[in-house]
Amino acid sequence: MTRRRDEMLKEMGLWPRWRQRELPPSIETAASEPEQPLTAASDMRTASSAVRVPPAETDDRRTHIMRMDWPALKACVAECTVCPLHEKRNKTVFGVGDENADWLFVGEGPGADEDAHGEPFVGQAGKLLDNMLAAIGLKRGRNVYIANVVKCRPPGNRNPAPEEALACEPHLQRQIELIRPRLIVALGRVAAMNLLARDASIASLRGRLHQYRGIPLLVTYHPAYLLRSLPDKAKAWADLCFAVDAMKDLKGKSGNEGPEKKNGNEGNSTNS
Ligand code: URA
Repeated sequence: MTRRRDEMLKEMGLWPRWRQRELPPSIETAASEPEQPLTAASDMRTASSAVRVPPAETDDRRTHIMRMDWPALKACVAECTVCPLHEKRNKTVFGVGDENADWLFVGEGPGADEDAHGEPFVGQAGKLLDNMLAAIGLKRGRNVYIANVVKCRPPGNRNPAPEEALACEPHLQRQIELIRPRLIVALGRVAAMNLLARDASIASLRGRLHQYRGIPLLVTYHPAYLLRSLPDKAKAWADLCFAVDAMKDLKGKSGNEGPEKKNGNEGNSTNS
């Protein structure tokens, strides 16, 4: 591990490095039941079965973020310098849409267009995402929220590094808590891996409901991948149909409009 990386981990409150410990019973259970909600920061296991144990500073930061309301969370993201992605960003990309949405779509991280505009999915992949939404009768900002695993652009459009995703994870977790969507759609492998805290192919995760902290989640291909792989568009269409059916069931289960979730603010759309 380089000195630079050590310094970064210290700054994120992730130092000393993860150590191995006895698994508490709850984590043993979760590990043997892959569909149980795990979080990247608290429950992620490495291939060697080591458990990442966040030190107290990380818990403090997480606890602090978990108490934030929307304005505080937006300010926290806008000012964030916890991981090195902040060094090269032009704009943070918090998320956009209806803050009481039933639908939450989660991508990987901003690209160049998003970094310039401060809004997720505004480039070519975003156009395809908008078309995908339209195909199932949805529209950005109307009962839909769009967010990313990381809020700052990974340089060169690389995937976010695990420690970058980990540093940003409380932001996404708090967004999800505030939105309380009925259904999360993970767009691509990076989103799926981080939300489900497990490494698996999209092919193996598609076609069934998973859980993120008790919220149903399904996985489909990332729109940027679909732009390059036309044959998989048909599979993505099947995933969207599955999502629509799942949403119908979820609404049915909670009594149509689910008044316990909605607060009459549907349609409220913000992106900063
Ligand atoms: N790809 C993503 O995953 N997110 C964006 O916001 C844009 C492209």
